[in-house]
Amino acid sequence: MPFSELGLSAKVQAAVAASGYTEPTPIQAQAIPHVLARRDVLGIAQTGTGKTAAFTLPMLTMLEEGRARARMPRTLILEPTRELAAQVEDNFVKYGVNHKLSVALLIGGVSFGDQDAKLTRGVDVLIATPGRLLDHFERGRLLLTGVELLVIDEADRMLDMGFIPDIERICKMVPFTRQTLFFTATMPPEIQRITEQFLHNPVKVEVARQNSTATTITQRLVRSGKKDFEKRETLRGLVRGAENLKNAIIFCNRKSEVATLYKSLQKHEFSVAALHGDMDQSARTAALAAFRDGRIQLLVASDVAARGLDIPDVSHVFNYDTPHHAEDYVHRIGRTGRAGRLGTAITIVTPEDGKLVSAIEKLIGQPIEWGSDPVTEEETSEARRERRAGGGRGERSGRGGREGREDRGREERGGRKGRGDRSEPREAREPREAREPREVREPRESRDPVPRAERPARPPEAPRARGAERPAGRPPVHEEADMSHLPQFLLRPVTYRAK
Ligand code: AMP
Repeated sequence: MPFSELGLSAKVQAAVAASGYTEPTPIQAQAIPHVLARRDVLGIAQTGTGKTAAFTLPMLTMLEEGRARARMPRTLILEPTRELAAQVEDNFVKYGVNHKLSVALLIGGVSFGDQDAKLTRGVDVLIATPGRLLDHFERGRLLLTGVELLVIDEADRMLDMGFIPDIERICKMVPFTRQTLFFTATMPPEIQRITEQFLHNPVKVEVARQNSTATTITQRLVRSGKKDFEKRETLRGLVRGAENLKNAIIFCNRKSEVATLYKSLQKHEFSVAALHGDMDQSARTAALAAFRDGRIQLLVASDVAARGLDIPDVSHVFNYDTPHHAEDYVHRIGRTGRAGRLGTAITIVTPEDGKLVSAIEKLIGQPIEWGSDPVTEEETSEARRERRAGGGRGERSGRGGREGREDRGREERGGRKGRGDRSEPREAREPREAREPREVREPRESRDPVPRAERPARPPEAPRARGAERPAGRPPVHEEADMSHLPQFLLRPVTYRAK
């Protein structure tokens, strides 16, 4: 089916043609006519399927009618990370070249003032991460009563990151009569519940088998010793020996490992950049831009920072660490082999990682071939026995020495002592930075231009009951306590001097 039969406006079709697309992808062909018919849509699709255009193109068509009013966005798109939000904004710029629409981005790490000024002028499309959106709302700088269309993108990632209570809250703040487009790669029970609660008679559009991996990706496992220096050496060998390596994303399980590996690769004179949530927004943007433009060949990244990024032409993915959660494997390797191109995904496996590999193979429904001698079941059992005898964490590469300290300190402050490292959750650390905590970054005095009396009353529902939202078996996400009900003088920092 050509684009001309989907019901898109002439301006949008011209922009699509200018992008060089000749045919809609399956998710676009199936979803766009329903979106234009004002139906709610439940899209089950991974990134790389063209799902962003599946909602941006019909939105542009629909927004040609009507006009934005101050502080009252007409449409709202929720994204789990700043990078994804910025990517969606890029899509509006690209497909909206023939429109004069105002698009605003509300993400952390960007000044409130600039965002606020844009809201005041009126926006047609508001793209936001949930935390920052609620911040603006709570200050009374934003009204959601004009939202005609709500998009919730990457919903399963929102669940992983503990955003579901925020999403539920936002869904109750926008008009009941709005149209809702909901995209998720997988359908865990919690997401099912949300769709039943907030979508009205949705059309279900599903384009890929859940948890499938693209057939264009060659997947291999490569064994390594468990020590950090051994893994780094294995990685260097893999990068140097890789065939047709144009560029690569290298995934680590922890932010501290991203930083360490980045420094090491730099020392060994690789062309490399890092991407993790402790970097400030401008550094993250610069790293991504350098990688996208081909100025940098390797990008070392954490899962949250790199999730869903659309970099069309990544030839290789290396898993420096075998991911703790099998679904992350699917998302990581999905960064390569996009849009029908060929890609290679190589996972470094230490004897301790055998169980994780089995979980991945079970999830994707196929064994992954070894590109080296395999790690045997006996070695895995032996490594686990050793680890238990050695007290767990101290034995694990990268956790006992200097490199592990940063994360351990943070976990301890979060009250997470005493867990074995395998159960140490990546989510417990990563989402904190990606959530743009609301009450911590800027002192209240400097960021609160609106008198308390003028702010809208807080909605009655309790937004922070996150514990109940987690899927079974997932570790809890550490949260900042909600202290917004406390008087200001209690929120000021206190210096404690020991006697
Ligand atoms: P997404 O799943 O939205 O992250 O999109 C993945 C990639 O597919 C992006 O680089 C888009 O530019 C590209 N894309 C989207 N729609 C089409 C299309 N109809 N034909 C070819 N490429 C497309």
